[in-house]
Amino acid sequence: MYNAMLKHEKMETVSHFAAAVSHELRNPLQSIKGFIQLMHEYEYSREKQLEFHQTILEEIITAEDLIDDYLVYAKPTYGQLEPITVSPEVHHVLKIMAPYANGKDVVMQMIEMDEHARILVDRQKFQQALVNIIRNGIEAMPEGGTLAVSVKSSPAKVWIEVADEGVGMTKEEVKRLGEPYFSNKIKGTGLGMMVTYSIISQMNGEVLVDSEKGKGTEFTLEFPNIASVSK
Ligand code: ADP
Ligand code: MG
Repeated sequence: MYNAMLKHEKMETVSHFAAAVSHELRNPLQSIKGFIQLMHEYEYSREKQLEFHQTILEEIITAEDLIDDYLVYAKPTYGQLEPITVSPEVHHVLKIMAPYANGKDVVMQMIEMDEHARILVDRQKFQQALVNIIRNGIEAMPEGGTLAVSVKSSPAKVWIEVADEGVGMTKEEVKRLGEPYFSNKIKGTGLGMMVTYSIISQMNGEVLVDSEKGKGTEFTLEFPNIASVSK
């Protein structure tokens, strides 16, 4: 069943977002600091030290994940949008994500590519939104699989579709998408989709979700086709 949703009601949370993320970053940083101080003060066995190193590394990865979901979004750009051709941006993001997909046995495939489709966006934020959606698609397939990407257009609209054959979501989970800190992952931030919804609606786009538990998920980013807007 097609489950198209708008997330305007969640937008007011965004202003508290910077404070929330810096707060979240303090946890891993405090813990890294604590372990380094401990190792400085006491003589631990090699084995214990290696255990501490592992924990520190995990905390650094937690901090990195937070920054990955958030950083580009955090950069203020005062809503300046520029016309872009979609296909090179999508190719660029697929290239950025290739090592991550490879590591998880996921094959990313371009199914259909409208080479001429153009939209009005903040280029970096658009890439960030796409990275967040593609990363979730890859992470939804722990045993590997195919991530299918298409760019389509009509005279009025441009659609960027990202479909995985992963774990899928219940209707309730789809409803909660974009809620801050909603995550079903052990090491998830629960911020990626919130950032994505916020970015896309800032750029006059919409995020559509079609998901079935156990079957997979298709995210569609829908934008006005600027070929028709500029007329
Ligand atoms: P995170 O990825 O850190 O958990 P997100 O905001 O990116 O946070 O995603 C929130 C949650 O939405 C995920 O934990 C997952 O449960 C669900 N989700 C998002 N994308 C997908 C997808 N492609 N397939 C299945 N579940 C998804
Ligand atoms: Mg995510």
